[in-house]
Amino acid sequence: MNAADCLFCKIVVREIPAQIVYEDDNVLAFLDINPINPGHTLVIPKKHSKDIFEIDYAEWTAVMRAARVIAHALETALKTDGINLGMNNRAGAGQVVFHAHVHVIPRFEGDPHKLWRGKPYAEGEFAATGDKIRAALNK
Ligand code: AMP
Ligand code: ZN
Repeated sequence: MNAADCLFCKIVVREIPAQIVYEDDNVLAFLDINPINPGHTLVIPKKHSKDIFEIDYAEWTAVMRAARVIAHALETALKTDGINLGMNNRAGAGQVVFHAHVHVIPRFEGDPHKLWRGKPYAEGEFAATGDKIRAALNK
């Protein structure tokens, strides 16, 4: 997708309305229209990049810094009991809007949102998986 056709780029230039809650030189944060809980906020780089694979380190650092600022604001404003951060990267991980964004999700004791459920490794898979990842990192 070209930045000109990108929904979130249109929010950056105010072509599409949004509940913008934070802005700095590199980052915009606005309310997700379909929240897990009220206050669920998306933090995006202003410069278009698709996902965690494409975003450069300076933009990523700015996004993560802003996510922490938003986490504090949600706690103060909404009296949250906790905060989840999430990011879907590529269709295989459920990404729907292909402009990188981090979800900052307010959580409340007893809310119905469910996190993932882990499953145990098969025999030998634990160490083998560690080996594969270490090999990729040492390339
Ligand atoms: P994903 O790409 O899977 O992280 O999902 C995209 C997220 O963007 C969803 O949580 C949507 O509810 C949210 N979203 C889509 N369009 C808008 C919009 N115009 N304003 C705010 N949030 C949006
Ligand atoms: Zn974009």
